Amino acid sequence: MMGETIFATMSRLATEHNAINLGQGFPDTPGPALAIEAGVRSLRAGHNQYAPAGGVPELRTRVASIWSQRLGRPIDPLRDVTITVGATEAIAAACLAWLEPGDEAIVLEPAYDAYLWAVRMAGATPVGVDLGSTMRLDAERLEQAITPRTRMLIVNSPHNPSGMVVSDEELAAISAVATRHDLRVLSDEVYEFLVYEGSHRSIATFDAMADRTVVVSSAAKTFGLTGWKVGWAIGPADLVSEVRSQAQYLTYAGATPLQHAVADALGNLDLIVPLVRDPLARQRDVLVDGLAKLGFTPLATQAGYFVLTDLGPVEAETATEAALILAERAGIVTIPIEPFYVEPERAPLVLRWSFARQATTLRDALAQLRRAADRGLLAPKTR
Ligand code: PMP
Ligand code: GLN
Repeated sequence: MMGETIFATMSRLATEHNAINLGQGFPDTPGPALAIEAGVRSLRAGHNQYAPAGGVPELRTRVASIWSQRLGRPIDPLRDVTITVGATEAIAAACLAWLEPGDEAIVLEPAYDAYLWAVRMAGATPVGVDLGSTMRLDAERLEQAITPRTRMLIVNSPHNPSGMVVSDEELAAISAVATRHDLRVLSDEVYEFLVYEGSHRSIATFDAMADRTVVVSSAAKTFGLTGWKVGWAIGPADLVSEVRSQAQYLTYAGATPLQHAVADALGNLDLIVPLVRDPLARQRDVLVDGLAKLGFTPLATQAGYFVLTDLGPVEAETATEAALILAERAGIVTIPIEPFYVEPERAPLVLRWSFARQATTLRDALAQLRRAADRGLLAPKTR
């Protein structure tokens, strides 16, 4: 059953319980002024009719020029780039284009839930390769998951939900498997500019990967403007044209004024990235330190919006139960890990917390958690 996404469910619970929402990943700041001003200008300039399917040339050109450098090869703005309604549409379009009913797609678990459902919408089956408690890839496990029906592999670095940057060794191992079994790779890199430790490398830069990889990224995380829903897919012309063909019939094209605004903002990428990234690094420290003091065990997080912990002082049988206890008794909304697994019942006892919130909000949340713990509200006897 498809049902409601966990992000919608938990955001609704936050409203119902008047809780502090550390669940869904979105910043609670107005966004970089350079990008917002570009948006206002763009609306006034009259960019208000349909964009061409594939996106406005100004944005495709900007994306091509930045990613030519990032990927170390020439990217053609019209053939190798397509603009989508957020990274989400690019993910769905790639799965719909590349998978037939009966096919299998590999995801590394925990996996962002949109991959599982995009694969299923294509009539195919997601196959999870468990990253285990360290959130690191076991290359043998990946090899064993491949069957004659495997068509594609979905990679996500920096990783949601763990905040890990996939290492060069892991990317090399994935590349070797993809090449050996002639698989297509969808590489979701939406958090690529929000790296606090280590550095991001795209799997598309590995030998033999350029021809088989489509890289997906978006303005949502880069500019902290998740409501803009402007994303892009970059890769070899044949693969990208298949993504574009599907996207034409999903949405035809995304919001024209915002595409122009993102093109403008990308022109100031080097100025904007530190403004978005550096406060997040500080917020990460506030949340991680605070949770550790409360008895949770945070997993190291290098990038993105999230930190994973165990259930700490919350006494519960499942992560979902723990998340409900936290929402109802402590007024704190988190995301339980189950929906990130093909078989949710096999998920570990882990919660995801977002630090994409201002430090004052995080400190309020930590104080509220402390009060609930001190009053014994997180233990079962009070249930
Ligand atoms: N991929 C990952 C890993 C995400 O966390 C998200 C959530 N922003 C998306 C894709 C979706 O991005 P967009 O809002 O651009 O559709
Ligand atoms: N990517 C966001 C997250 O992981 C959620 C986006 C959504 O609600 N679909 O929290």
